[in-house]
Amino acid sequence: MTFQEKLEALARLTVRVGNNVQPGQRLYVRAPLETAPFVRLVTRAAYEAGAKLVDVYWVDDFVTLERLRHADPSTLSEVAEGQYRAREDAAEHGDAFLSISASDPGMFETADGERLATIMRAVGARARPSLEAFGSGKVNWSIVAYSVPSWARRVFPGLDEDTAVAKLWEAIFTISRADQPDPVAAWTTHLDALEARRDLLNAQRLTALEFKAPGTDLRIQLPELHRWEGGSSRTVHGVRYVPNIPTEEVFTAPHRAGVNGTVRASKPLSYAGKIIEGIEMEFKDGRVTHARAATHEDALHRLLDTDEGAARLGEVALVASSSPVAKSGLLFQETLYDENAACHIAQGRAYQYTLQDGNDMTKEEFVASGGNDSQVHVDWMIGSDDMNVDGILPDGSRMPVLRDGEWAFQP
Ligand code: ZN
Ligand code: ZN
Repeated sequence: MTFQEKLEALARLTVRVGNNVQPGQRLYVRAPLETAPFVRLVTRAAYEAGAKLVDVYWVDDFVTLERLRHADPSTLSEVAEGQYRAREDAAEHGDAFLSISASDPGMFETADGERLATIMRAVGARARPSLEAFGSGKVNWSIVAYSVPSWARRVFPGLDEDTAVAKLWEAIFTISRADQPDPVAAWTTHLDALEARRDLLNAQRLTALEFKAPGTDLRIQLPELHRWEGGSSRTVHGVRYVPNIPTEEVFTAPHRAGVNGTVRASKPLSYAGKIIEGIEMEFKDGRVTHARAATHEDALHRLLDTDEGAARLGEVALVASSSPVAKSGLLFQETLYDENAACHIAQGRAYQYTLQDGNDMTKEEFVASGGNDSQVHVDWMIGSDDMNVDGILPDGSRMPVLRDGEWAFQP
């Protein structure tokens, strides 16, 4: 396959598998300027799938950087409305929404932390209604990544720019299965396998998970109503879609008051344009009591201080070391990819649908059932080849879930 054929295949599978755009739907796209060639292919594929309208919101990190450097500090809480209105419109009308990720993971490495935090807080608050609508199944949304020089140079620091971009594309195509003879069929097989594991875990009604690895000894209680998710999701309108391309995880909600022990990151976290390395945390009764990092510890503390729920967990996800992302051996410094290489946990908000009937609960009911609420949801990676995970069954016995990073049960 030529590069162009693979890019077209990626665009088609984004539209057909990721969003699964339905005839008569609008597709909203949030896209960095550099991704225009791909956005045009996505647009073509969406109209071929019967989309009523494709509408694109162009964004640019360099514009944000200018603002960070030069805007009057008192103006940094202003939020550009367009893409948030589009998200709300999509939720109201049951449309599709695609976000294309193509950023330098260290874009804001040297930016002033306080100025950046002000922007992040304002954007977080403004984005919240639409994130909640996405989290409760009103929109068939998806995220896919695009290789750009600034990102590729971080993944392949020793290589010249063109080679790095090409190598990152090869990794994206392989991991996304876009280079397979029939990518859509390959995705069906993959999703069936993930969903079989998800269904088996749901049938066990585990009460807790125990994670053990060097630096990690963590017990995560699961809410009684917890529901494992993974593979495809379904909107309230019945559309099957895949929120992340790639996706290799099965995940659920931890109990917001039931996390205890110590945990060490297995990969750096790219958060708010800063690369936070060497994270270690201690939890007591669901809350972080100590948090350290080798770099940008201040950014980590800002994240945890966002609100009450930011220092608690909203997601626990299982990923085997045999996932194509893990097998690539690459560190992408991009959560969309790295979270599919390793088990991870997320600070902040839990997805409503990771509790049974969670979409129908009020915020208070959700929290009372053990679900966590926050403005943020930030995944960080804890899994490795050295990780063992046990599930605790209702009778107190143990079920091996992962051994040395690999699945220890067969569906
Ligand atoms: Zn996850
Ligand atoms: Zn997550």
